[in-house]
Amino acid sequence: MTEGLFAREAAVLMQTYRRQPVEFVRGDGVWLFDAAGNRYLDCLTGLAVVSVGHGNPRVAAAVADQVSRLTHVSNLYYTGQQVELAERLTALAGLDRAFFANCGATANEAAVKLARRWGQLRRGPSCYEVISLEDSFHGRTLATLAATGQPGKQALFAPLPPGFRQVAAGDLGALDAAVGTATAAVLVETVQAEGGVVPLAEDYLQAVRDLCNEREVLLVVDDVQAGMGRTGQWFSWQGLGFEPDVATLAKALGNGLPIGACLARGEVAGAFDYGDHATTFGGGPVVCRAALAVLDEIEERDLLGNARARSDQLAALLADLPGVRGVRGRGLLLAALLEEERAAEVVRLALAEGLLVNDVRPDAIRLAPPLTITATEAEEAVDRLKRALR
Ligand SMILES: *Cc1c(COP(=O)(O)O)cnc(C)c1O
Repeated sequence: MTEGLFAREAAVLMQTYRRQPVEFVRGDGVWLFDAAGNRYLDCLTGLAVVSVGHGNPRVAAAVADQVSRLTHVSNLYYTGQQVELAERLTALAGLDRAFFANCGATANEAAVKLARRWGQLRRGPSCYEVISLEDSFHGRTLATLAATGQPGKQALFAPLPPGFRQVAAGDLGALDAAVGTATAAVLVETVQAEGGVVPLAEDYLQAVRDLCNEREVLLVVDDVQAGMGRTGQWFSWQGLGFEPDVATLAKALGNGLPIGACLARGEVAGAFDYGDHATTFGGGPVVCRAALAVLDEIEERDLLGNARARSDQLAALLADLPGVRGVRGRGLLLAALLEEERAAEVVRLALAEGLLVNDVRPDAIRLAPPLTITATEAEEAVDRLKRALR
């Protein structure tokens, strides 16, 4: 049955994804079930998305209630869920206003457009540039691809929109040299997730903040993957001694329902006027109800505390595995660094052991389990990875 599905997929889908040979039909907490009833411990969560667990009852109930009550009206009208979500997110982030998008790329598009408007109003039409970092990832739309510091991915779709450039991560001198009168914003991830789960140093990030202040350019944090509790803080910059002017969210915000957000300081958000930016689906009542339920789950179950405790536990257990030479990352966004370049093979072997992880680098295995993972489940995950490594 599942083999038939693979052949149908190969015949009818654009072949942009090299999928693992498994068909999932159901999820429950940290567990996923395939069509044959086999159970898998999900330590990837659809790439840091399903943070409060598969089939989360609170999220499911909120979505079911909202979808039958009121699914969509457009942003021509008011809905309470969107306003409440904006109130809660801005309060948690220490920012003032929100614009809701549909995913990470469209949240970043909103941030780029906001930065361009802000630059234009502040310094005129030649202030539009966004400087990001090498090995970054900001999305797959043309503009967010232009901001993504991966030349191999960019070259395939040339010409990309102008106004983007990248400098080496961690090199303050290079950033200092690149920031000029054309610069509107600097865009960073605090942990370069797709870049191999590489955390940027705290003192570097603080120095970037200082540089942005001195040169009067915006600091935008792409918190699409590292935000929403993943690092053990609500947002990944918290605890690192600096604050952004603009931040973007998506992945875990709706626990699998598509929602993104761009948050900004009030003075910056004011650069958008009526009609400057819009989306049909963004901030709809169903996805906002899902996100509100996610916030309730994180708060009421102290999932930030659990993320920190399970992070320490997992990092220690992973570091002790034979074939692992180190662990990097923050919170529950971790990479086990292998002694050999065999991550793709280990991912396949882990699947056979009933464990979902991914090869974020040829020598690095990414783990991003649900924030709800228990100590016992974390041990089980490491046991399964150990068997895969053998
Ligand atoms: C996944 C990701 C994006 C893109 O999000 P999509 O929802 O796939 O558009 C942007 N930035 C970061 C840091 C991401 O991890």
